[in-house]
Amino acid sequence: MAIPAPDLPPSPIVPSIDLQADGVRHGHLRLPYSRDDSAWGSVMIPICVIANGEGPTALLTGANHGDEYEGPIALYELARTLRPQDVTGRVIILPAMNYPAFEAGTRTSPIDKGNLNRSFPGRPDGTPTQKIADYVTRALVPLADVVLDFHSGGKTLDFVPFAAAHRLPDGRQEAACKAAVEAFGAPYSMTMLEIDAVGMFDTTVEEMGKVFVTTELAGGGTASARTVEIARRGVNDLLVHAGVMRGAVERRETRWLDMPSGDCFAFSEEAGLVAFRVDLGEPVREGDVLAEISPISRTGAAPFTVRAAMDGILAARHFPGLVKPGDCVAVTAQIVG
Ligand SMILES: [Zn+2]
Repeated sequence: MAIPAPDLPPSPIVPSIDLQADGVRHGHLRLPYSRDDSAWGSVMIPICVIANGEGPTALLTGANHGDEYEGPIALYELARTLRPQDVTGRVIILPAMNYPAFEAGTRTSPIDKGNLNRSFPGRPDGTPTQKIADYVTRALVPLADVVLDFHSGGKTLDFVPFAAAHRLPDGRQEAACKAAVEAFGAPYSMTMLEIDAVGMFDTTVEEMGKVFVTTELAGGGTASARTVEIARRGVNDLLVHAGVMRGAVERRETRWLDMPSGDCFAFSEEAGLVAFRVDLGEPVREGDVLAEISPISRTGAAPFTVRAAMDGILAARHFPGLVKPGDCVAVTAQIVG
């Protein structure tokens, strides 16, 4: 059960701005963090609220993982440019949700090694990362009708660009999430299977009954002009779809992908130098060699072979040139629409 118990102590996080009033406000979530270089110091997490009268609320989050950049780029820009008169209701923007990780350029927080997207629903009396998760869960998600959480592959994965929803027990909620994914209009739309959904923001938001969209927009610890444009247009059209912005959703062609089982994921059992035989987006057949992993400590040894367990396309791959045992090397996804 991801929804937190009602008898938890209050969050130590204090917003520096009014989250309710109309207008544009830029401020911070101040998370007290006592440490060697600042006894009464704080982590200052940027937040922006743009509100205009009655209407739905969208919560937009980037840098849940600190080394994923399309979301923060699109969301800092949106916070700079979106005007109240463009909005009906409210947009809450957290462009760098795990700010310590984002500032360090790392997936997890340098303060406590916390992986924010494995820390939900969080704890008000936990680590700084758990406190961020708790505040978002108890103070921000309840305000929202729709939540968009940007991800990319970070430094160690790369993806074909997609927005995603999950299979949900409530068919109507799943349909609403998928309609929002289609409005985002990435080149691919994914029915996403998680390796381990426990502790994810996704799971918490979905269990709270909200419309939730996540993304994987490329990776490698950077962002390209193409993938930033996908993020920029995606968030705009999702806000239109949600009724928070006026206008018409510009329908872009998207291909639906599915991850029907754990057979999608191919893991390495060896360490070595990875040579991909297929690039992202290319078609694969069951049994095809996706990659070969060669030992680097000597010449002459046979490589470990990673094969596709189903027909589809290569949807994700390990990004660095060397892999370790247990690394996810490749993800195959079925084309379903
Ligand atoms: Zn991520």
